[in-house]
Amino acid sequence: MKFHDTHTHSHFSPDARMTMEEGVRQAVKSGLAGMAITDHLDIGTPQLKGVFRFDPGAQQAEIERLAALYPVEIFKGVEIGLQPETLQPTREFLSPYRFDCVIASLHFVDGQDPYYGAYYENKTYRQAYAGAFELMYDMVVEYRDFDILGHFDYIARYAPYQVRDITYREFGDLLDPLLRFLATEGKALEVNTNTYRERNGHVPVLDTRILLRFRELGGEAVSLGSDAHDTFRIGENFERYKDIIRNCGFRYLAYYKNRQPVFYPIG
Ligand SMILES: [Zn+2]
Ligand SMILES: [Zn+2]
Repeated sequence: MKFHDTHTHSHFSPDARMTMEEGVRQAVKSGLAGMAITDHLDIGTPQLKGVFRFDPGAQQAEIERLAALYPVEIFKGVEIGLQPETLQPTREFLSPYRFDCVIASLHFVDGQDPYYGAYYENKTYRQAYAGAFELMYDMVVEYRDFDILGHFDYIARYAPYQVRDITYREFGDLLDPLLRFLATEGKALEVNTNTYRERNGHVPVLDTRILLRFRELGGEAVSLGSDAHDTFRIGENFERYKDIIRNCGFRYLAYYKNRQPVFYPIG
């Protein structure tokens, strides 16, 4: 089947290692039907790995240029990093622009980037993950103007604990409010294939009970995103994860156009 990759980064993201044109070329080569360019907007980045904001006008002009050249649908996207004090500035920054798709993600907790490890110090895994899920819930409810919840299990990706799988059995109490909110609001739960790659000798598992619970709560939209920062990761493992999603009872995957979900059948 032909997929849509709903989460990719281009040279408008400081941590990406490909130009948008290289990414689009790879998407064509991989036989994707479409891709969304969802560059980072993290206003108020506590530990700067670069300036995580971009000029949406320039990004969208480049998307339009490439959309006219290549046989693949390209969508205008942004991945916003939510933090309590930056919700309003983020809204203001984005307000002059129109996007196809807005991904809401949690990249920082209590002003710390889990990527660097300090966040986990003096916390049990339960405390560390609970802190992230509780903040994520508050942020998405308050921000609300988004389409996809990005990598819900990101907090475990770089964690130093033995427990690096987010399971419904262990974290269902924290996940339920989030899943219910997404289901009720018609927003998409993202399966981010970047999470399920080996790091420090462990490959995190996508717990199918989380997908089943989302469905049980009325959730319909599931999106597949590679979160590619390199060309070789575009559409990575989509065959495998679409089977997992289908086995949880979903018959469609979702992508976004003009901020509306488009459902396409899982073949
Ligand atoms: Zn992200
Ligand atoms: Zn991303």
